[in-house]
Amino acid sequence: MKYLDEFSDPDLARRLVEEIRATVTRPWAMMEVCGGQTHSIIRHGIDQLLPDEIEMIHGPGCPVCVTPLEIIDKAMEIASRPDVTFCSFGDMLRVPGSDKDLFRIKSAGGDVRVVYSPLDALKLARENPDRQVVFFGIGFETTAPPNAMTVYQAQKLGIDNFSLLVSHVRVPPAIEAIMQSPTCRVQGFLAAGHVCSVMGTEEYPALAEAFKVPIVVTGFEPLDILEGIRLTVHQLEKGEHRVENAYQRAVPAEGNPAAKAMLADVFEVTDRSWRGIGMIPQSGWRLSERYREYDAEHRFDVADITTQESTVCRSGEVLQGLIKPHDCSAFGTLCTPRNPLGATMVSSEGACAAYYLYRRLDAPAKREVSSVG
Ligand code: SF4
Repeated sequence: MKYLDEFSDPDLARRLVEEIRATVTRPWAMMEVCGGQTHSIIRHGIDQLLPDEIEMIHGPGCPVCVTPLEIIDKAMEIASRPDVTFCSFGDMLRVPGSDKDLFRIKSAGGDVRVVYSPLDALKLARENPDRQVVFFGIGFETTAPPNAMTVYQAQKLGIDNFSLLVSHVRVPPAIEAIMQSPTCRVQGFLAAGHVCSVMGTEEYPALAEAFKVPIVVTGFEPLDILEGIRLTVHQLEKGEHRVENAYQRAVPAEGNPAAKAMLADVFEVTDRSWRGIGMIPQSGWRLSERYREYDAEHRFDVADITTQESTVCRSGEVLQGLIKPHDCSAFGTLCTPRNPLGATMVSSEGACAAYYLYRRLDAPAKREVSSVG
């Protein structure tokens, strides 16, 4: 296949669904790790096309959703300073902190800017040497390499009024934490294809073996996801637990060596809190000693922040796949994308936002296979 719309072909989708239906003999619960996959599943109604035996559990792979409240509050503290230009991707501006969001800081006069690349922030720093320019570096293995490269560039060019507020997280330790949870129901994983396009697949065989779960590297288009589910079901039915790559057009086994080298140079692995989930050992990155002077947390005195989560929001349970967004009493009433109580309602990759966008008027019922896309 060559063009994107071919990956939404309804005839091919129907054939994949029929093969899944013919293969499955008992209930299976599998988790799509990435929020982009969750959106694709809900948008295209893929979960409703599947046989009743298969349950899709939505995983924690939405970068905005898992950024801890403490870091959001630190971002607002830094962005409020008169000498700071605070740069971020747009999604983060609406994520609720303890009592406000970055939009409120901006409307109160803070210099908060939406940028499309960390290099835009570095350019701002270069053009405004009298200002401290901070970029909000969040996300998984996908956004970490360009952020690492920007810090590398800042050091190389001697731009010392730039810094990074770092909250990067890694997928494999999250899979481990999910499988170790006493409430875990996950029996197979659709791994995030874009993460593997950076990191490769070498971290996954040990997880598949340790927890006896199939892990299928999966893309984001409807046929990608159905193929990932098909391969996972085949393994589950046969009692196998291997790593398979269903996204070979983007994922070489070794990943992207240049990106991995940049990550290894600029970052070091550290424990990291995930919003709604808690501390996961070795699940994040921070700037390594050589680049520590570019760490906004070190540059600005924001150590003593106390945070207050919404008492209503159940996004932690959503992120762990314990409930569906519909199960939260605030869904669509107290909590909407215009007035989000939790990060999973803010981000375009958040499960609550996906359900609000595509399912809020639907009873969660199955429908016939007619088209996908
Ligand atoms: S619907 Fe809103 S309040 Fe409920 S879990 Fe999702 S983000 Fe939180």
